[in-house]
Amino acid sequence: MKQLTLAKKVEGVGIGLHKGEPIHFSLEPADPNSGIIFYRTDLDLYIEAKPQNVIDTTMATVIGKDVHQSISTVEHLLSAVSAYGIDNILIKIDAHEAPIMDGSSASFCMMFNEAGIAEQDANKKVMVINKEVSVTQGDKYVKISPDPDTHFTFSIDFNHPSIGFEKFHHHFNKANYLAQISRARTFGFLKDFQMLRSRNLALGASLDNAVVLDEKKIINSDGLRFGNEFVRHKILDAIGDLSLLGMGFMGHYEAFAGSHALNHKLTLAILNDPQNYTIADLQNVKDSTFQGAFA
Ligand SMILES: [Zn+2]
Repeated sequence: MKQLTLAKKVEGVGIGLHKGEPIHFSLEPADPNSGIIFYRTDLDLYIEAKPQNVIDTTMATVIGKDVHQSISTVEHLLSAVSAYGIDNILIKIDAHEAPIMDGSSASFCMMFNEAGIAEQDANKKVMVINKEVSVTQGDKYVKISPDPDTHFTFSIDFNHPSIGFEKFHHHFNKANYLAQISRARTFGFLKDFQMLRSRNLALGASLDNAVVLDEKKIINSDGLRFGNEFVRHKILDAIGDLSLLGMGFMGHYEAFAGSHALNHKLTLAILNDPQNYTIADLQNVKDSTFQGAFA
């Protein structure tokens, strides 16, 4: 299988979760082996999507050089990039954050459909996970273990009447992603929004781009898109965060109460020991359904 990029450039406009201002962005084809590259048009600054460039994971995944030269909330866009098997893409943005759209990755998926996907003249690589790697924090964990395909299993346990314990397993491929994951929205608690607003953050957050919960219930009048939308969104985030490995992986990602911070630590831990993985041409990997994952 060959590397993939976009067949043509597509442009979009959205608002930023934190500043609430309009953001213009474009998704553009890129050369074979160039990877996923962000470009801040307002700063003339390129930022490669890789774990070494992650500078903050507190509320979102932020990549860049420092707080002023960075792009926040890249995980939802990267999640869609990963699901489409896109190896090489240039993402131009005129702001310090990626647009939140509807809080899911569905809008980005539609843009990739509009652009079309093109094969390139270079072999597609895959990271084959050779042994289990895990990161823990108290009772929370994220881990990855060998598997002939790509799987994500996530569980959460929130002490809230509308969430509680949720567990979801996702066999990762484009069709499953579009059906199960892409429409799952980000979520937050009203009291946290009020606190963030008081610090001039989350100015763009609204019921149009997040599921919001008060002490007892979901306050969006339309309710949820899936009964377990919360844990599905955690998988959407994990797919985006793990895409910073630079290629798809053959392995099983499992998490309990995982976070951007733990996902980032996991990517660094995987890359830290070359015995953890083998990078192979996908066409040479046998016994995997990965070959057809992006059809
Ligand atoms: Zn998210």
